[in-house]
Amino acid sequence: MKQLLRITILLIGLIWILAWAAAGRFDDTPSAQDGSESPLPSGEITAPGERDSAKTLRVQIQGEVQEMDMGTYLLGVLRAEMPASFEEEALKAQAIAARTYTLYRIRGGGSANHLDADTCDDHTCCKAYINAEQAAANWGSMAVYYEEKLARAVSETDGEVILYDGAPILAVFFSSADGSTQGAGDVWMNDLPYLQKVDSPETEELVPNYYSVATFTAAEFKSLVLAAKPDADLSGSPEHWIKDIVRNDSDYVASVTVGGVKLRGNDLRTILSLRSPSFTVECKDNAFTFHVTGYGHGVGMSQYGANILAKQGLSAEEIVQHYFSNTTVGYYDG
Ligand SMILES: [Zn+2]
Repeated sequence: MKQLLRITILLIGLIWILAWAAAGRFDDTPSAQDGSESPLPSGEITAPGERDSAKTLRVQIQGEVQEMDMGTYLLGVLRAEMPASFEEEALKAQAIAARTYTLYRIRGGGSANHLDADTCDDHTCCKAYINAEQAAANWGSMAVYYEEKLARAVSETDGEVILYDGAPILAVFFSSADGSTQGAGDVWMNDLPYLQKVDSPETEELVPNYYSVATFTAAEFKSLVLAAKPDADLSGSPEHWIKDIVRNDSDYVASVTVGGVKLRGNDLRTILSLRSPSFTVECKDNAFTFHVTGYGHGVGMSQYGANILAKQGLSAEEIVQHYFSNTTVGYYDG
């Protein structure tokens, strides 16, 4: 009889412990709706539909559509978009950002450039993508180590997405910032609550080619500008062609008037293939010299900034939440 009582008490205890553990597990799993500010630990259990392996993508690679799961796709994006020598948490932040960006694009109906594919390997349209063989050729003796490192960055963030209002965000990224990022409205048409100016820790010592110089003869400058902006009046002395440089509060060029045509700083950057819209310009002896800081449009996550924050001890989830204001990291089943 005593034996039976002991077993019953043991069983009740066991059931109680199991129920407590299960409740703890659910409490720890932030949902898209709970508005939790705390970043997720990696490797959290997710519903099957939210796992990378359960999400099939149609990826247009060199013109041909291939089907693959999200994890395989993200590994190809990581190989192409971030140096594999970067810190593990920076690579994980990149995996989360690329996953989020892809889901955002799919949710928005994809690209008109490829109606029968969810994404493509053209970095000017979607994200760059390279396969294992191409990457191995680039990495040489480090190939096995790097491939495993990137695969870990994807699997350890399996299913993690940056969310605003319960939906994946436009998780854009770029190479390096000039002290801070820019708001989306400074570069594109619309401001977004999660693409705001934030501090970024790059320095000349920590980023290769952080400062760059681009020089154009007046004839080269004229030809490039007129190809993009035929209405620009580039007659007379070149010293009067560029006027009214206005900087935003991130100190990037917000707008500039070229030959009477008002352009955004980022537009002139694109026309002249400058490395960033953070520049100064001088005109001397019929030539323009641009001094440029950083690399990329300056909106969203800075990759070199992410790497420096990772060295300082921030987790991938903390890094993406630093660069994408007012967001949470969670799972999305859409
Ligand atoms: Zn595309």
